[in-house]
Amino acid sequence: MLAVSSAAAALAAIAAGIALLRLGKSRSAPARSADRIEVGGIKVGGSEVGAGLRCVRFELAELAAIRNLLGEQVAAGLLACLTRKIAERAALAKPAVVGDSAITLTLHGNAAAQTERQISLVCAALAETTTYAGIAFSLTTRSAILGPDGLWHDSASARLLDPAAYPADRPESRDLNRLDLLQKFWVGLENGEVALAYQPKLDLRANTISSAEALLRWSRADGVAVNTGDLITLCEQTGTIKQLTRWTLGKAIADNEQFRAAGHDLLVFVNVSGGLLADAAFADDVLALIAQTPSRIGIEITETAVIADPELAIANLDRFAQAGIAIAIDDFGAGLSSLEYLQRLPASELKIDQTFIAKLSSSNRNPLITRATIDLAHALEMRVTAEGVDDQLSLALLKVMGCDLAQGYLISHPLAPNKLLSFLATFSGAGSLAKSLAKPLVNPAAARR
Ligand code: C2E
Ligand code: CA
Ligand code: CA
Repeated sequence: MLAVSSAAAALAAIAAGIALLRLGKSRSAPARSADRIEVGGIKVGGSEVGAGLRCVRFELAELAAIRNLLGEQVAAGLLACLTRKIAERAALAKPAVVGDSAITLTLHGNAAAQTERQISLVCAALAETTTYAGIAFSLTTRSAILGPDGLWHDSASARLLDPAAYPADRPESRDLNRLDLLQKFWVGLENGEVALAYQPKLDLRANTISSAEALLRWSRADGVAVNTGDLITLCEQTGTIKQLTRWTLGKAIADNEQFRAAGHDLLVFVNVSGGLLADAAFADDVLALIAQTPSRIGIEITETAVIADPELAIANLDRFAQAGIAIAIDDFGAGLSSLEYLQRLPASELKIDQTFIAKLSSSNRNPLITRATIDLAHALEMRVTAEGVDDQLSLALLKVMGCDLAQGYLISHPLAPNKLLSFLATFSGAGSLAKSLAKPLVNPAAARR
């Protein structure tokens, strides 16, 4: 497995690496095992420590996917743009060497302080969002040092996007379609075509609506329908999800302040891709945004992208939990969560994927899986939401199983903010929907099968 680290982590690892490599020159080498030494997460051949640092390479994790999904021109243009940016910022004496998806810098070992400064400037430049062809890209940087042993030493272990997953021989027109889609989306975002729809969640004990999930909606000016899930996947693969998620958070906060002003103190959940969680700068942004509002905001962790560095992701989630931000694990059962991961996440809610709920009343196995999941989550002190509840019998079964919350078309489709307010007004007035959802199960034996 290869290493993907956030720019901040990369900087820390490299800075530690340089510091120790420098130390090795003048003093005895730091703690080593056999002939290997680990410095700031980077493993270097111990016996050669001190011979000098040669090169630093920054690999851009999403570039292969950008090349394959959006075309060679966009990948090359973005790379050139980033290279210009870092050359300017770090005032490089030698031009950077640009590969297919990496930028390599030659460093001068005897001016270590200057070298460290240059690396820190490069890391900062790469961590920034770069707008190219009208699209805001935020790429994940993986760093490696060329050690005195002539080998590249990576900073940590994680998984890179697999270029094989995106065959390069796709017709050019498809690339152009995707590029056009992303470009139009970014224009649409500025022009007010993008909004959030809110899907209410029903508290099964109190029969009230106390939370809702924010879901992205793009109403294209030309009327073409866009599938939200496909759009989000494209944003995740091409490194454009970070900027979009910042926008979504800001919008959810503004909308929730309106709900609050109208007398509804809702906990609004925003979807955050697992791939963003290891990014400390992103976590800082989330904390700063949420700290400014009196409204309650939670995050749902979606696992559509690989969680790059689970240790860092958990550290950032701990910061969210300490700041009082509710954390829900999305799509449980369909994603990649292991039980070990489940136990370590500071989550207060588990959402059972809709594939299990859709056939709850017609399949033999799904009720067993659902019930076991509810018990497991309760044992871990988490509340459980069943997603995709779209019939009365499933709702009744879920109540008997002890499920805490239900979300789905039976209760409501995702609604525009003003429609959500009308829905909440009717619901809290104990209208016919609230009464029908409160009905007890006709045949409780069915739930215990
Ligand atoms: P999700 O987080 O699992 O969201 C639930 C999806 O199921 C939504 O689709 C919702 O409209 C749909 N749904 C809700 N109730 C029912 C039901 O009873 N039956 C059925 N068949 N479907 C139901 P949507 O809005 O198209 O979103 C698709 C996915 O896109 C979401 O899945 C989420 O992973 C992602 N997504 C949406 N908005 C955002 C966002 O702002 N940021 C991120 N990162 N991802 C988002
Ligand atoms: Ca979700
Ligand atoms: Ca879900």
